[in-house]
Amino acid sequence: MSSGKSMEHFITSYAELKSGKKSPRKYLRDVALTGLSWAADKKYLRKPRVQFIYLHHLFKDEEAGLDALMKRLSEEHEFISYADAINKVISGTIDKPYITFSADDGFRNNLAVAEILNRYNAKACFFINPGMIGVTDLSRIKQYCKDQLHFPPVEFLNWDEVAQLQQWGHEIGSHTMMHMNIAAATLTQITDDLGETYKILNDRCGGVHHFAYPYGRFFHFSVVGREAVFNAGFTSCATAERGCHINPVAPMRSEELCIRRDNTVLGWDMAHIMYFLITNAKNATINNNFYPLGFK
Ligand SMILES: [Zn+2]
Repeated sequence: MSSGKSMEHFITSYAELKSGKKSPRKYLRDVALTGLSWAADKKYLRKPRVQFIYLHHLFKDEEAGLDALMKRLSEEHEFISYADAINKVISGTIDKPYITFSADDGFRNNLAVAEILNRYNAKACFFINPGMIGVTDLSRIKQYCKDQLHFPPVEFLNWDEVAQLQQWGHEIGSHTMMHMNIAAATLTQITDDLGETYKILNDRCGGVHHFAYPYGRFFHFSVVGREAVFNAGFTSCATAERGCHINPVAPMRSEELCIRRDNTVLGWDMAHIMYFLITNAKNATINNNFYPLGFK
């Protein structure tokens, strides 16, 4: 547990994160999204598909939002594990609306994500950076959050807490040792890093299958990076590009699957979260399952 003294250095609420960030432009975007979300047709939530929701943080003032979202989504969706979600897509056996969850960066408040998911018997994959697990040194945390995450300082999980997530039935995946931008790294750096995270997670967690590359947009990745992921032993690779998955025309190889995930911030209005999910459900195409040209 953290001492009260150290807590004051860490950001602990979404309100704190947002304070000072409210611009007129943001306000107008919020108003526009509210309008759009009223118009979004909820029938698309009943479309057979696999939608990957992913989070980073869950501060105290966001916990009720996640609980409400889970309750809302349970009306039409079956929650499945990350591994099952991937299997449904590659085998082309999506027969109803499915949702799976993941969270990146290994913040300590991911424990609260798991606790709320547990209430709904939902399983997630937590993508962690082994180089930051158990780090409590404040100056290291501050530097890492600033340089790698472009985020204020937060607490990170320790290995006992990672084990707790696994005991609850959640999966652990790799997000590189220290949040590497793969597009800016050499092949040797990528290979060494992926080999190291694979070994650490395999030893610590009794097996590891999934990988999500940091920053998440296509321009943060590369063809050689993708090859290195599978050569290291991982059997899935996730982006943070929006979109969801419908059945492919024929079963796919797991290396071919380009996992798309919908970034979700629980501090947003529920209507806005639902707008993104409905729009991406509506717009899902077979092509979403594959990497764009240049990544094949
Ligand atoms: Zn990340």
